Formats: sequence, structure tokens, C-alpha cells
Amino acid sequence: MMCAATAVKRGKKIAVIDHNPKALQKVFVSGGGKCNFTNLSASKEHYISSNPNFCISALKQFSPQDMLDFANKHKIKTYQKTSGQFFCQKSSTFLIDALLEETSSATFFYNTVFKDFNITSNGFIILTNNEKLHCTSLVVSCGGLSYPNLGASSVGYDIAKKSGHKIIPCKPTLVPFNLDPLLMKNLINLQGISLPVEITINKHSIKDDLLFTHFGISGPAVLQSSLYWEKGNHLNINFLPQTDAFSLLKSLKNKSKQKLNTVFKAYFSQNFINYFLPETNSLYLAETSDKKLIEISSKINNWTITPSSTRGYKSAEVTAGGIDTKYISSQTMESKLIKNLYFTGEVLDITGELGGFNLQWAFSSGYVAGKNL
Ligand SMILES: Cc1cc2nc3c(=O)[nH]c(=O)nc-3n(C[C@H](O)[C@H](O)[C@H](O)COP(=O)(O)OP(=O)(O)OC[C@H]3O[C@@H](n4cnc5c(N)ncnc54)[C@H](O)[C@@H]3O)c2cc1C
Repeated sequence: MMCAATAVKRGKKIAVIDHNPKALQKVFVSGGGKCNFTNLSASKEHYISSNPNFCISALKQFSPQDMLDFANKHKIKTYQKTSGQFFCQKSSTFLIDALLEETSSATFFYNTVFKDFNITSNGFIILTNNEKLHCTSLVVSCGGLSYPNLGASSVGYDIAKKSGHKIIPCKPTLVPFNLDPLLMKNLINLQGISLPVEITINKHSIKDDLLFTHFGISGPAVLQSSLYWEKGNHLNINFLPQTDAFSLLKSLKNKSKQKLNTVFKAYFSQNFINYFLPETNSLYLAETSDKKLIEISSKINNWTITPSSTRGYKSAEVTAGGIDTKYISSQTMESKLIKNLYFTGEVLDITGELGGFNLQWAFSSGYVAGKNL
């Protein structure tokens, strides 16, 4: 849509094909319905790709500030969750309306499934379930495999393969984790508890909230950690990221006549204490050995778990991997193999962290293609 908006401004005749009945279904649900549409800190450090420098040019040509200016131009009220992380204040529909307004002179083919295409001497023949279209340029903005119920399909990768491009293996990411069913039996009383944590995985450290669910763990810290997770990897979870539990207990040891659980009740619910620290319900702090305090503290500062799997594409906010950018121009998004064929957004092997980086990538790369087609 950003590509279409940019191209119609240049006087180009644009057709948008979508098999959904409406445009921008993912934008509609994103950010819990308020669409975290950009992050002012978007730069290559916030993206994972086998070609880490690829995103630089597009993010420069259409920067997070440009996206914010776009929102301001359409008088969309916004708010920042963390510094630079912008959401629509009321609803993502305001951003959708702005993009529909900017593309009003394009022709929309909704409920239209892109089936196949052929390359001709003067462009492309597009075959859909009910149309045969001809175009001089083709922009593939079909997203990844995540959330098939919102329209995700493999068509972008199929188009790329047919035109000679390689696919970097895909995986669901920004996704919750399933935990072992036996472990879940014990954790079931923690369902619904959300708390700030620090998760360390493969040398990455993420501070945000974790949510215990009926299947395992979710919440922003968990989704973010899934970016770095491979099957078999463990997560180290610190439930008191600001506090060294042993130092805290030691500092109170000689002053307190209370049971150990009293100290933890200031931080955690009784259900949490019953699972992670059951012994503290009967031990008195002053009478507990340092060795035992260290053992208890490590359960709080370093809970190590190995997720059994992720929740898969049906629950993943994005798809990591995708079309190898080696044969795509980072300046224009045009294929280096097939003239006038462009790829933008999530279908490419560019994956942003949680926090507005993926939509910013979709907008930046879309803008760049729209400027060049
Ligand atoms: C629940 C959820 C919440 C999210 N929240 C955020 C957030 O707050 N901030 C953020 O930055 N990112 C967020 N994301 C990620 C973000 O929405 C995507 O990265 C972004 O939408 C990708 O844009 P895109 O244009 O590449 O693809 P998409 O937005 O996925 O668009 C692809 C389009 O192609 C259409 N299509 C696919 N196959 C076919 C076919 N065969 N024929 C015709 N049409 C087809 C689809 O219907 C769809 O309209 C979220 C994702 C999800 C699922």
C-alpha cells in the first residue's frame, strides 16, 4: 500500500491484488489493534538478515521520521509506549484509512488470488482466480507465512523461486513458546501471571514482560527472545532483573524474624511462590543457611528452561528468513535477475525486532519500490 501510494503520486497506473476482502488486515490487528507503526530507533541493528546492510538504504530513503510525518499529515493521534515506539492512539483503522486515501486512484482487486505469472517481452501476465492482467512492473508484497487466517500464503516465495531467486530457510518468529506438558502440569496455576523479566538467550539479553499461559510462555520478552531461538536452545529467565536475590536476602537476614516468603511476597504472587519457592513458606530467613539462600536465589535470578517448540506460524507475528536479498537491489528493491520485478516487506529475508520495526521495514521498502517502478 505504501508502494502504491508512492507510485500513484508519480502518475503511475496501479492495480493492487489481494485475496483478502479488505486491504491491510495485518495492520488492522497489529499492536493489539493500535498498530505499532514505527520506531524512531529503526536501523540495521534492529533487523536480522543474512545480508545485514541490506535494509540501510530503504530505511534512509523513507525513515521512521518520514512515517511519523505521514501519520501527522493525516492527523493520526499517536502515542509512544517506550521512547520512539509509536502506536495509533485510538485504532489502527486511522492508519488504514490514511493509506486507502493515498491510494484512492489505484484499482483494487480484492478476493483475488494471485495464482501464477509469466514474463513477457514487455512485462508480466498475471493469472488470478478470476482475472488475467498485464503489467509492465510487478511488485511482490505478499508478506510471509505468519497468520494464515489473515491471508498469509507462500505465493511470494513461489514467485521468487520461479524467477530464479533463492529462499533463506523460513521459521516462525516473534512467537510464544510451548513448554513440556509435564512441566505445564505444575505451572498451570501460574496461567495469566505477567511480570517483568530479563531473558538471556544465545548472548542476547531482553528486558520486558513475560506471561504464563495455558501452553507455556508468551509476552513481549518471550516473543523477542524467539528471534534468537533454535530448537534445543534454553532460555535463562531472571524474575528479578533489577535485584540480586542473594544480596537482598543476605542484607535482610540479620534484621528479619520473618518467614522467607514474606520477602518474596513484595514481588510475586502466592501461586508463583508456591511453584518456584515452596520451601520459603516454612523457612525463616534468619535461620536459613547462605548455601540454601543461594539455591533459592538462583531459582529467581536464573530459571533455565528449554521450550519444546514455538507456537508456529499461526501465532507468529512474523516469518524470519525469506527471499535472499543477494539478487535484489537495496536502492530500489528491484530484482537483479528480472527487470521490473520488485520485492518489498516481510517476504524478503529481513526480520525486525518487536517494537514497530517490521511495519517500518514494510513501509520503507514499499516506498522505495514505489519510487522506482
Ligand atoms: C498479530 C500481529 C501483530 C503485529 N504487530 C505488529 C506491530 O505492532 N508492529 C510491527 O512493526 N509489526 C507488527 N506485525 C508484523 C507486521 O504486521 C508485518 O511484518 C507486516 O504487515 C508485513 O507487511 P507486508 O506488506 O510485507 O505483508 P502483509 O502485511 O502480510 O501483506 C501481505 C498481503 O498479501 C496478501 N496475499 C498473500 N498471498 C496472496 C495471494 N496468493 N494472492 C493475493 N494476495 C495475497 C495478503 O492477503 C496480505 O494482504 C504484526 C503481525 C501480526 C500477525
